[in-house]
Amino acid sequence: MTFDFHTHSFFSDGVLSPIELIRRAHVAGYRAIAVTDHVGLANMESMIREVAKDCALAEKHWGIKALPGVELTHVPAAAIGECARQAKSLGARIVVVHGETPIEPVEPGTNRAALMSSYVDVLAHPGFITTEEAQIAVVNDIYLEITARGGHSLTNGHVVKVGLAVGAKLIVNSDAHSPENIMKEGFAAKVAQGAGIPVEILESVLLNYPMELLKRLENKD
Ligand SMILES: [Zn+2]
Ligand SMILES: [Zn+2]
Repeated sequence: MTFDFHTHSFFSDGVLSPIELIRRAHVAGYRAIAVTDHVGLANMESMIREVAKDCALAEKHWGIKALPGVELTHVPAAAIGECARQAKSLGARIVVVHGETPIEPVEPGTNRAALMSSYVDVLAHPGFITTEEAQIAVVNDIYLEITARGGHSLTNGHVVKVGLAVGAKLIVNSDAHSPENIMKEGFAAKVAQGAGIPVEILESVLLNYPMELLKRLENKD
């Protein structure tokens, strides 16, 4: 059973339509998927509206949990809180923030701004996250991502080390942009263990935290 709260359709730079992405995830054994295309203010409203249609269709006919969301990407750090609030008010069920990955010029301060917002659910690929930032994630109950995506994954080991030291909740996402990025059964466990998640907390990372997050997202209507 796989949970994946961070994927992309062709509404941003993914290659699949939302419904094909969800279909392939369903067939791969996913319990839940969030479609979280890259947004700033320009495309937020239309993207959420369109993706929500396919999510509703998939949920109705296939039983998979499919959540329309956003990944706030390269938004000015000072505007993240307001953009996250707007995304939720426009119907996004989940707000992911594109964190300070080591491979892109994400504005410094993005991790912190995301973790300070009560409208943000997941900080994706947070790069060289600091202990202080990870502590804010704990206090504000925001999930930190261990990513299956090449490049962003360079700092997974660091994220796990810093996150575990303060008791942060870590989850695995695919950040899928194409069909082959959809995680096969058991792949999330490899990503987690490869990043240094000890076997004793593997179930929390793969199952308990994702189920808890899903419950929270479903209750926020
Ligand atoms: Zn990202
Ligand atoms: Zn992404």
